[in-house]
Amino acid sequence: AAPSVGPGQILPFAATRHPDKIGLVVGDSRLTYRELDRLSDNVAASLRAGGIGTGDVVSLYGQNSWQWIVSYHGALKAGAVVNPVNVMLTGPELAYVLGDCGAKAVFAGPDQAGTVSGALDSVASVDLFCVFGRSDASAPEGAVPWDDFLASAAGSTAVSAPDVAPKDLCCIGYTSGTTGHPKGAMQSHQSVLLNCALTATMHGRGVDEIVVTALPAAHVYGNVAINSTFLAGGTVVLMERFDAAHALHLIATEHATLFEGVPAMYSMMLADPAFETADVTSLRKSTIGGQTFSPSLAERWQARVAGPVLELWGMTEIAGLGTTHSVFAPPVLGSIGVSLPGTEIKIAPIDGGAGEVPVGTPGELVVRGPLVMLGYHGRPDATAEVLGADGWLRTGDVAYVDDTGHFFVVDRLKDMILTAGYNVYPAEIERVISSHPQVTMVAVGKRPDEVKGEVAVAYVVTAAGSDLDAAAVLEFCRERLAAYKRPRDVVFVDALPTTSSGKLMRRKLTELDHAISR
Ligand code: ATP
Ligand code: MG
Repeated sequence: AAPSVGPGQILPFAATRHPDKIGLVVGDSRLTYRELDRLSDNVAASLRAGGIGTGDVVSLYGQNSWQWIVSYHGALKAGAVVNPVNVMLTGPELAYVLGDCGAKAVFAGPDQAGTVSGALDSVASVDLFCVFGRSDASAPEGAVPWDDFLASAAGSTAVSAPDVAPKDLCCIGYTSGTTGHPKGAMQSHQSVLLNCALTATMHGRGVDEIVVTALPAAHVYGNVAINSTFLAGGTVVLMERFDAAHALHLIATEHATLFEGVPAMYSMMLADPAFETADVTSLRKSTIGGQTFSPSLAERWQARVAGPVLELWGMTEIAGLGTTHSVFAPPVLGSIGVSLPGTEIKIAPIDGGAGEVPVGTPGELVVRGPLVMLGYHGRPDATAEVLGADGWLRTGDVAYVDDTGHFFVVDRLKDMILTAGYNVYPAEIERVISSHPQVTMVAVGKRPDEVKGEVAVAYVVTAAGSDLDAAAVLEFCRERLAAYKRPRDVVFVDALPTTSSGKLMRRKLTELDHAISR
C-alpha cells in the first residue's frame, strides 16, 4: 500500500515493472525492487504497529545505507512525514531539529546511536528510537535494534494506503546551514515526486542507468539522484561516504553510466593518483552542482568521460533541482541550465523590488510553481522573508539569464563582499585562483576592515610538493582581476570546511585564519 500521491509511490511503481532488477547497491548489499518494496512495506507495518502513522514525523539520522532508504520509503507508506537529518549535526543541533519538528520516531545509523541517545534526554516527543544494523547488546538503552523493529509487525506487512493529498506535508528538509542555522523547509508530496519525475526526464534516465553517487540521501541533491533513478527503474550504487579512489573503483566495477556529485568530489577524483589509470569509459553523463565552481573543473572531467557534464542548480526549499541541463541539447559551459518544465524562474531586482531585470543583468533568482515549499517549519517570520503572497520564492542567489533561457549563478547575495563601495563576488575570485596549476582547492571569505568595510581573503589548498606562496597568488590575481576585486590576504590551509554533502561552509572560513601564511 502506498499513498495515493507522492514519493511513497516510487518503489511500488518500480517493483511492479521491474521486480527482479537490482535497484540499490550499498557496500555488499544488492537489493532488487521487489526486496526494496517489501522491506519498506515491513517498515510501514512496524511503524503502524508502534502507533506511528499519518502526519507523524519520522527522523532519519545516519550515513547512507539501505536501511536508511527503506526507512524513508516505509515512513511515507505509513503516511508519516519524513525528516532527513544531516549526519554531521552535533548532539545539541540534532536535539534542536528533533524538537523543532516534533519527531515521533528516530532511525539512526550505528555510529550515530550514541548521539541520538544523548539528544533524546531533551526531546519528549520521540516514542521510537531504532538503530540500523545492531542486534547486539551494545545498542544504547531504549534503542530498538533494526531486526527487532522489523519483527514487530508480526508477519503481517499489509498497511492500508494513507490518505494524503498532493499539497500535504511530505518532508521537512533542513537546509544545509551554509549561511546560517538550518531551517526546516516543508516540502509537499507533489513537490518531491514532481522534482524526481522532471529530473528523470531532463537527464534521460532509463532502466539501463547505473548511477554511482556519494551524495547524502538526506540532502535534496542526493534524494533526487536516488529517487529519480528508482522512478526510471535504473540502479543506484550508493556510497556510504565519499572517497575518491573508491568512487573511481565503483565507476569501473559497476560500469556506471552516470556519476553525480558536488564540485569537491570531482576535484578530489581528478587529484587522486588513481585517476590516471581509472577506467571511466562506461560513463555516459555526469551531473554536478550544489555550489559555484570553476568551469575548468567541468572541462577537465569532460576531457576524460563520454557524454555531457550536466550542471544543475537546486535548493532544499524547492525539494531538489530548479534548473539543469538536459540530455536533449548541448550544455552551455558555466551555466546551471534551464528551468525545469512547469517551474517559473526569473531574475528579480537585487534590492528586493518586484518585476524582472533585463537579459544579462545580475539580479536575484526567484522561483514559482509546484516545487516551491509550503514554508519553513514553525518560522512564519523567516518564511515571509523569502516567500511572497504572489508565490515567488526569493532564493538569495545572484544570477543572470541569457537570451536562450540559460541561467548563470554569480554567487550568493549573503556572500557578496562590500569593499570600499564595490560589490565583489567570492566565486569570481575563486574561479581565477583555482585556474592556477598548483592550486587544488580555494575558497574566498571576507574579513572586516576599518578602511574598506570588508576585504576578501583567499584560503588555498595546494597540490602536494607545491612551493606556491602568498606573493605568487597575489601576483597571479593582479594579472587577472581588477584592483578592487583582489584578495587582501592569502592563507594556506590543509583542507576547507565543508558540509556533509561536501559543500563549502564559507561562514566557517575565518576559523582558519590561524593557519600558516606562507
Ligand atoms: P542554508 O540555506 O542553510 O544557508 P544552503 O543554501 O547551502 O544552506 P541547500 O538548500 O543545500 O542549503 O543549498 C542550496 C544553495 O546551494 C543554493 O541556494 C545555491 O546557493 C547553492 N547552489 C546549488 N547549486 C548550485 C550551482 N550549480 N551553482 C552555484 N550555487 C549552487
Ligand atoms: Mg539556502
